[in-house]
Amino acid sequence: MSEKKIIAVFGATGAQGGGMARAILADPDGEFAVRAITRNPQSEKAQELAKAGAEVVAADLDDRESLVKALQGAYGAFAVTNYWEYISVEREQTQIANLASASKAAGLKHVIWSTLPDSRDEIPVDNDRMPTLEGTYNVPHFDGKGEGNAYFTEAGVPTTFLNTTLYWEDFYTFFPVTRADDGKLALTVPMGERKLSGIAVDDIGGISLVIFKRGEEFIGKSLHIGGENLTGEQYAAQLSKTLGEEVVYRPMTFDAFRALGFPGAEDLGNMFQFYYETEKNFVGSRDTESLRKLYPGLQDFATWAEQHKDQFSV
Ligand code: NAP
Repeated sequence: MSEKKIIAVFGATGAQGGGMARAILADPDGEFAVRAITRNPQSEKAQELAKAGAEVVAADLDDRESLVKALQGAYGAFAVTNYWEYISVEREQTQIANLASASKAAGLKHVIWSTLPDSRDEIPVDNDRMPTLEGTYNVPHFDGKGEGNAYFTEAGVPTTFLNTTLYWEDFYTFFPVTRADDGKLALTVPMGERKLSGIAVDDIGGISLVIFKRGEEFIGKSLHIGGENLTGEQYAAQLSKTLGEEVVYRPMTFDAFRALGFPGAEDLGNMFQFYYETEKNFVGSRDTESLRKLYPGLQDFATWAEQHKDQFSV
């Protein structure tokens, strides 16, 4: 039997959990072992994890009992939910409650909950600047996670609340750089002239490994993370250098973004408005110099862009 402490990694076949799993598997100290939690252990990604040395275990965030079973014998868990699969705060809340309650039942010693700030702490929901969504939320996929922090606290789970931010990978997926009608490459994220905190998704895993190693020090704490805080102009200037072609910054308005019409467009339009209006706090709470001391591998945007330039299909 393994002597290593087992970390159950939710979302291990996806972006955040994938980074967490890779960070543990690549750790030369080898203090921890990965238990990759997935709904489908036969999937290609799950099989790749097994080949890389992870134990692959089936469980479903919608089914609390499956979680209790999957967490048996584990030391800790990296917990993440995927709001975008169902676009429902109610369902995400149930999944967070299941995670917290199962973590308690399994006696976990340390859970890192990948959360986001509840925008309503800074922008009242009855404001007249953005639409209220899903009944009582400004930014449902943020607010629901922030509200969900309480499940861990109330259940008495030793938790680190890891407040993430936008992944730079979104610049070729969610909010891609595209060729405009005038032939120019354009970054259109609605951030006006203000700074947007971004991060390489893999660094969420890298930072999390440090948090697990330092343990006690981070239990009950909230950590706000980002790799670099740049304006749209600065992101576009770096992308121009990296891609070898000018990228212009043409920020959409929040209203234009909300009107894009795809599922979740209003939520994401409100998210950018939240980033914009609370820039001082959001960016101010992400001190990248201190974070780099904690995790020296933390990438800045230029480093990340160089490594991912081939992903931009422009
Ligand atoms: P992802 O790459 O789309 O992967 C989703 C992962 O969740 C998969 O590994 C999937 O595993 C697992 N999963 C989904 N439903 C599950 C269930 N019912 N039971 C067990 N596992 C389940 O997701 P991600 O980007 O890592 O994380 C998504 C979350 O990140 C969202 O909630 C979003 O709000 C948040 N977020 C996104 C950004 C961004 O910039 N995009 C930034 C910060 C936070 P299987 O399919 O193998 O079961």
